Amino acid sequence: MAEKSKTTFYVTTPIYYVNDVPHIGHAYTTIIADALARYHRQKGLEVFFLTGTDEHGQKIEKTAAEKGMTPKELADRVVGRFKELWKQLNISYDYFIRTTEQFHEAGVQKIFQKLLAKGDIYKGTYQGWYCISEENFLSEDVPLEPEGYKICPDCGRKATLIEEESYFFRLSAYQQPLLEFYQQNPQFVRPQTRMNEVVSFVKQGLKDLSITRTTVKWGIPVPGDPRHTIYVWFDALHNYLTGIGYDWNQELFQKFWPADVHLIGKDILRFHAIFWPAFLMAAGLPLPRTVYGHGWWLKDETKMSKSRGNVLDPYLILEKVGADALRYFLLREIPIGQDGNFSHESFVQRINSDLANDLGNLVQRTLTMVVNYFAGKIDEPGEEKEEDLRLSSQFAETKQKVIEFYDDYALNRALEEIWVYLNTINKYLADNEPWKLAKQPDQRPRLARVLYQSLCAIKGISYLLYPVMPETAGKIWQLLAQKKKPVEIKLAELKFYDFQAEEPIQRPEALFPRLDLKEFIGEMDKQKSADKKETKPEVKRMEYITHEEFKKMDLRVAKVLSAERVAGTNKLLKLQIDLGTEQRQIIAGVAEAYAPEDLIGKEFIVIANLQPAVIRGIESQGMLLAAELDGKPIIPFFDREVPPGTKVK
Ligand SMILES: [Zn+2]
Repeated sequence: MAEKSKTTFYVTTPIYYVNDVPHIGHAYTTIIADALARYHRQKGLEVFFLTGTDEHGQKIEKTAAEKGMTPKELADRVVGRFKELWKQLNISYDYFIRTTEQFHEAGVQKIFQKLLAKGDIYKGTYQGWYCISEENFLSEDVPLEPEGYKICPDCGRKATLIEEESYFFRLSAYQQPLLEFYQQNPQFVRPQTRMNEVVSFVKQGLKDLSITRTTVKWGIPVPGDPRHTIYVWFDALHNYLTGIGYDWNQELFQKFWPADVHLIGKDILRFHAIFWPAFLMAAGLPLPRTVYGHGWWLKDETKMSKSRGNVLDPYLILEKVGADALRYFLLREIPIGQDGNFSHESFVQRINSDLANDLGNLVQRTLTMVVNYFAGKIDEPGEEKEEDLRLSSQFAETKQKVIEFYDDYALNRALEEIWVYLNTINKYLADNEPWKLAKQPDQRPRLARVLYQSLCAIKGISYLLYPVMPETAGKIWQLLAQKKKPVEIKLAELKFYDFQAEEPIQRPEALFPRLDLKEFIGEMDKQKSADKKETKPEVKRMEYITHEEFKKMDLRVAKVLSAERVAGTNKLLKLQIDLGTEQRQIIAGVAEAYAPEDLIGKEFIVIANLQPAVIRGIESQGMLLAAELDGKPIIPFFDREVPPGTKVK
């Protein structure tokens, strides 16, 4: 994919809205970006990693007023919290952009003027539903009530239809160019399913976009017409240009633009995959190579939200397990395009089995043997046998696969490969039994060889782990008494046998202490109940869906063919179900109320066209419907047998 001559890599996160405090969702996007940035630096590319904050708009103005601050003061405070979290998570960004910075505002105004002169921006009249109480327009996708008006989703009041003068971006003119661009660049939107969504949306036709407001004061003024401020999305998207020098550092800009990848949450796909390339086409600038829309983290199968009180506090997890464990879990558990489920059980399981056991134990055991048998310094390893050569050639193969996966942004697959190799090292030690060799003085050269091979393998694998777990990789290299740090070696220079211990290896301490599930849940829950007290009650109102929307759901009768518990969890069952025309596998959180044998042969209702999700590393291709009472699920069954696959409506 990448051109041979390419020497730079430019990766971005969305800029985060300062009306929010940093949570696990922000952390997730930013950790992905950081792993990619570190990997490309290892490859020897010149990397620019941009993140930052979106600081304009009505909501910020309002929140600041409520807190008795200016919008800038509010932004300053929240920016501090983001920067602090990035520091704790070892995020190696190159620049943190704020949309209130002067060079950004100037850059946005310059582009606005350019498009105005060209006719891609024109003045017209915007008609929209306006909430008097909050003084803002409702977003266009708020549905019309059957009585013919809209209700403000923020305060529940009836909105009024009003007109105001506005500048428009001529998005309609870019429908055809966009469709052609998508066709020529099938990797522009990833994963592929999101590309399909984008294409079908654009094919339905694009309306011109209102991009200014006279009702919002806290924004970038339209040049020459300061009654208007530029709509916050138009403003924000251009950070990707201004952050690398557009209009203020031509050399920097030329070097890095276009971006290699914009990482985004799937909820802002339309802005990045449709509006953004259209703005760039209008400005005559090259388009980014890829927009990668990642999935959401759910907590125990539900979306995290402040009102549900189930938002995970990244600080609490960091305090308990450190940055690398969290980085590892988030990147290992699911492919970045899919939704994932964060449960305490799966988190603790990953830490204990993958990190404490497979990785931590291996390092500790091996190094302890080197200390015990060789006082930390291995003398003359004996000749290599076939299994020794195999360990090194398997490393070369692993390295190649890991590179391919990192290049393809398949971070979870890269980690899987790394763990396959960790198990290879563990098996090599088990097969060669150095602890037995140590008891036979004539086997000393062999013992030295086995431990030497293991040290080389550990060094190599921790290097490949570096983009995801930089702190751990550094720690392992330090334990191995290596002259250089992992960041000082380029990927191409990494050789299996390049083991240069400067001084004797010391007795190591555990890299990852094991977690106790009960204790861990207890600590998280304490925090959760504290959070709940602080949250304000939400305005509740019925959210109607249309008949069309309901019809999109494919509800089917499913019959359970087999059922088993998902190892290491209390809640989850893995079910094979018959849907009439096909068999599928679903993961259901019903194990606390139903034993596997209770369900075999039973029939219930599943949503068959729900996007598949990976739960505890297992794909779930659908979801069963159940009521919940006192935290326990109750499945509705049929009162007579129905053929599997029958539609429910
Ligand atoms: Zn309102």
